[in-house]
Amino acid sequence: MNIGVLAVQGDFAEHCHVLRSIGANASEVRLPEHLQGLDGLIIPGGESTTLSRLMSLYNLREPVADMASSGKAVWGTCAGMIMLAAEITEEDPVPLAVMDVGVRRNAFGRQVDSFEQDLEIKGLGSDPYHAIFIRAPVIIRVGEDVDVLSALPDGRPVAVREGNLLATAFHPELTADARIHRYFVEMAGGPAFDDNAPLIETPRVRGRLAQE
Ligand code: GLN
Repeated sequence: MNIGVLAVQGDFAEHCHVLRSIGANASEVRLPEHLQGLDGLIIPGGESTTLSRLMSLYNLREPVADMASSGKAVWGTCAGMIMLAAEITEEDPVPLAVMDVGVRRNAFGRQVDSFEQDLEIKGLGSDPYHAIFIRAPVIIRVGEDVDVLSALPDGRPVAVREGNLLATAFHPELTADARIHRYFVEMAGGPAFDDNAPLIETPRVRGRLAQE
């Protein structure tokens, strides 16, 4: 499986690390030609206004939107989710508008209001998923064909799927739980994983978390 990770800004190295640890090929996408031959693409978290600007600068907006519309698996996490949305409540950035959801940026406040939350996620088995929200967006509208995979205790959706498109408001690349990456690799046409497989070792990610 060849999964590309948009690598113009944000958490791309961590996504590549998790993908490799579950046996997928991960490649960094910086130019349109890097999209060739991919089975799926991850748009990582970071800062959506910067992400959007750099995508325009490197002519990535149209080819990434085309990839999403063509039925290839595309997953946006956090700022990446903002980029996939049909509309957002702010003027900036202009999203790619490929997924039928409405999104509010920074829905929980500033950086200090970042938090962690155990979630139940449809399709990931019964164990709770420990999700890390960093200056996170939230989904405020879901289209008819959008499946809500997980919501906060107050009911606000934070993980959604619309066919080949997946969006999560939190950062699955920052934990040792690779279940959502495995879910995405399966969405991209990869082999089914064993849900009871042990958690992966991610020393690099752990080291980073320890510093924060
Ligand atoms: N707050 C950021 C934005 O609006 C997203 C934060 C993130 O990706 N962790 O783009």
